[in-house]
Amino acid sequence: MRDQSEPMQIDAETFRAEILRHLTYSLGTDPDHASTHDWRMALSLTIRDRVVEPWFASTRQTWEQDRKRVYYLSMEFLIGRVLEDAAINLGLRDIAAEALEGLGQDFATLADAEPDAALGNGGLGRLAACYLESMATLGCPAYGYGIRYEHGLFRQSFDHGRQVEMPENWLTVQNPWEFDRVESAYTIGFKGHVEVIDGRSVWHPGETVIASAHDMPVVGWQGRWANTLRLWAAKPTTLLDLDRFNRGDYTAAAEPETLARTLSRVLYPDDTTYAGKELRLKQEFFLTSAALQDILRRYLATHSDLRALPDKVAIQMNDTHPALAGPELVRLLVDDHGIEMGEAIGIARSCLGYTNHTLLPEALERWSTWLMGNVLPRHMQIIEAIDADHAKAHPDRPAHVGIVAQNEVKMGELAFVMADKVNGVSALHTELVKKNLFPDLDRLHPGRIVNQTNGVTPRRWIRMANPALSRLITETVGEGWESDLDRLAGLESHVEDAGFRDAFAAAKRANKERAADWLADRTGVQADPAALFDVQVKRIHEYKRQLLNILQTIALWKRIRENPDADHVPVVKIFGGKSAPGYAVAKEIVNLINDVAAVVNNDSEVRGLLKVIYPANYNVSMAEVVIPAADLSEQISTAGKEASGTGNMKLSLNGALTIGTLDGANVEIRERVGAENFFLFGLTADQVIQRRKDALHSRHAIEASQSLRDVLQMLAEGVFSPDQPDRYHGVVDRIWHHDYFLVADDFDAYETAQAQVADLWRTPDEWVRKAALNTARMGFFSSDRAIRGYMNDIWRTEPAI
Ligand SMILES: *Cc1c(COP(=O)(O)O)cnc(C)c1O
Repeated sequence: MRDQSEPMQIDAETFRAEILRHLTYSLGTDPDHASTHDWRMALSLTIRDRVVEPWFASTRQTWEQDRKRVYYLSMEFLIGRVLEDAAINLGLRDIAAEALEGLGQDFATLADAEPDAALGNGGLGRLAACYLESMATLGCPAYGYGIRYEHGLFRQSFDHGRQVEMPENWLTVQNPWEFDRVESAYTIGFKGHVEVIDGRSVWHPGETVIASAHDMPVVGWQGRWANTLRLWAAKPTTLLDLDRFNRGDYTAAAEPETLARTLSRVLYPDDTTYAGKELRLKQEFFLTSAALQDILRRYLATHSDLRALPDKVAIQMNDTHPALAGPELVRLLVDDHGIEMGEAIGIARSCLGYTNHTLLPEALERWSTWLMGNVLPRHMQIIEAIDADHAKAHPDRPAHVGIVAQNEVKMGELAFVMADKVNGVSALHTELVKKNLFPDLDRLHPGRIVNQTNGVTPRRWIRMANPALSRLITETVGEGWESDLDRLAGLESHVEDAGFRDAFAAAKRANKERAADWLADRTGVQADPAALFDVQVKRIHEYKRQLLNILQTIALWKRIRENPDADHVPVVKIFGGKSAPGYAVAKEIVNLINDVAAVVNNDSEVRGLLKVIYPANYNVSMAEVVIPAADLSEQISTAGKEASGTGNMKLSLNGALTIGTLDGANVEIRERVGAENFFLFGLTADQVIQRRKDALHSRHAIEASQSLRDVLQMLAEGVFSPDQPDRYHGVVDRIWHHDYFLVADDFDAYETAQAQVADLWRTPDEWVRKAALNTARMGFFSSDRAIRGYMNDIWRTEPAI
C-alpha cells in the first residue's frame, strides 16, 4: 500500500511515452492520424494503468485481513465522467496535461469528449456515486452493485420549447473504464413453479437469463484505496435457437437473446412515480439476485458457516428498489444451504440496511401479489413467511401493518422488516419517516430508524469542478482539506480580510465567465458575468416548484418594463433539468420556462437586466460547470416533500447563498451557515398540512396578492404563447383550484425573499462575506462524514487504512 506522503511517481516524459504506447499498441492507431477519440482512449488507458495497482492492493489486503465488506445495492449510479476525476484522485491531472501538451493535445478537450455515465435519474443515483467515491477515499472495503444499462437516462432536447427525449448511447463508443468479467456470471430465474420435495421447496424457473459482471474501479483520494463498482449485463442462456434457425425462422431464432437483453437495456426514466411494470420488477430482481449470489460465493470462498455471515457482510439497500434482497437472501440460505426459515430470516436481517429516500406516496413501491407470485413464485412464499414471522414475533402488531395487504406487497414495509437499521437522509426527513411513514413499525422497533444526512464528495464537487476556489482554499488553509472538509472552517477567520474577499470574488467571477461562455455556446444566449446568477438545477417536478421560480421571473420582468429607470439588479435566471417523459404537468413547466425565456430574452426594453437561460440535458457534467458559477441557489420545494437534496449542498459549498424553504437538508444547511446567511421563506411542513385543510387556500392567496394576479393574468392572455394563447390555461387553472404544492400560498413570501436577495446584491462586499461564510461552514456536508456515519451506526465496519 502506498503511503499518502509519497505522490504518484511519474514524470511527463514517461507519461507521454505511455500514451503513445497505448495509442499505437492498444488502439492500433498511428499518432499522425489519431482523432480526439483515439487520444482520449489512450489517455484513459494510461491513467487506468495507475488505478490497477491500488485496486489490486486493496482487494488483496481485504482478503488477507478477512475484512467485513460493504455491498451497496442501487438501481442507479449517476457517475458522470470518470477520466478527470480519476486523474485528480491519483494526483496525475497536471502531469497528464503537461504530457499531452507535448503531443499537441489539450487535457480539457479530451476530458470533455467523454460521455457521461448517466445510469441514474438524479439525486438518488448521484448520492450512490458520491458514496462509492467516499468509501474508496476512507478505505472502507466495498462493492457497488448496479445494472449496466445500455441506455442510461435519456438525452433531452427542446423543440419549440417542448421537451424531446432521445436515447442516450454512452456505450456506442468503447468504455475504457470497465473490465468485462466473463467468468463472473450467474443464472437468474423468473416465473415457473415451486415443487415440494421431502419437505423442501424447489423452485423451477420458467425463464432464465445470465447476469454477467462488468467491473469499474473506483479510486479514492490520492489513490490510497480502490473499490469496485460491479455492473450486471443480461445475456441469454442460449444465444440462438438453432432448431428455428435451421428451419429458416431467423427472427424467432434470436428470441432468447432479445428477451434477455431487454432486461439491461434501459433505465426507467422516472424517479418520483412508481409504475408497477413487470419489466421493472424483473430488473430489480436481476440486480438483487446477481449481487446476492456473488456475495455468497465470495463469502463461501473462505468461510463455511453462513450463520456468521453478518460478521463479514453488510448490504445496503438504496431505497426499496433492491428490497428483494431480503427474500432472495432467505431463499438462498433456506433452499440452497438448508438453513431453517426463522433462522435464515434472522441472519438476513442482520446483514441488511435500508435507506428511505422519499415520503411521496406515489413513489412508494407496491407490487400486486398476482404479479409477484407470477414473476417470482418462490419469493412470494418467502415474503408471506417473513410477514407471518414478524406478526408472530409482535403479537401486538396492528392489523394494517403487514407487508402483504389488499393483494399488494408493500416494499417499504418489507425493507423495514428485513433491515437491521432503517435510515432517513436528513434530520427533518428522518423525523417525518418516524412520524408519518412508519409510525407503527417505529413503535414496534424503537431505535431501528436512524438518521444519516446526505453528503457530496468534495473531490468532484470542489476540487475538480472549481479549480479557482480550490486554489484559494489551499492557499488559505493549507493542503489536505479535500479529505478533511471540516478544515474549511479555517477560512472563516479570513472573511474579514478584504484581500481574501477579493480573491474569493475573483474565483467566482472566473467561474461565471467560464459558465457564460458555455451557456452561450449551448443556447446562443449571452449572460453578463457581472449579473446575479440565480440557479435552479434539478429534476423538474411539481414539488420542487420550478413553477414558483418562473412565475416570480415573470413578475420581475413586468416590474422592469413598468419602471425601467428604477435601480434593478441585473439577474440571469438559469434553469436545468429533465422531466419524466410521461409527466405531462412537468413537461408543461419545461415548455413555460422556455416560452418565458424566448419573450424576455428578446425584449429590447429589458436591456440585459433579466435573462432566462435553460440549456437542455442537465447532467453531472453540466452541474460541474453551472454550480461553481452560481450566486443564488434555489431550494424552494414545498416543505415536507424533499427528503434531503444534495444539489443544495454542492451549491452552498461553492459559495452560493440559498433561497429556500425549511425542507430536507436545507434545515441543517441553514443551521450551519447561519440564519443571517440564508434567505428563508415559506410555510413549514406543519403549516403546509394545516393550510391544505382550507379548500380555498390558493384562492385566498391569489386574492391577497396583486403581483400573483397580474402574473396569472398574463399567462391567461397568452403573453408567453402568442401562437397559442390558451397554452397555459391549464397551469392557471391548477393554481386557482388544485394547488397541491402551494405555489400561490408561498408566492408573496418568495417575492419578498427575492427582494432581500436583490438588496444584499447591492452591497457586493456584504454578499461576498456571506458567500465565503457559506463555503467555510459547509464542511459537515462532505460524503466522507456521511459514510463514517454509515460505517459506525449501520455497517459496523472499520476503515482498512
Ligand atoms: C446533485 C445532482 C442532482 C440532485 O439535485 P437536487 O437539487 O438535490 O435534486 C440531480 N442531478 C444531477 C446531475 C446532480 O448532479
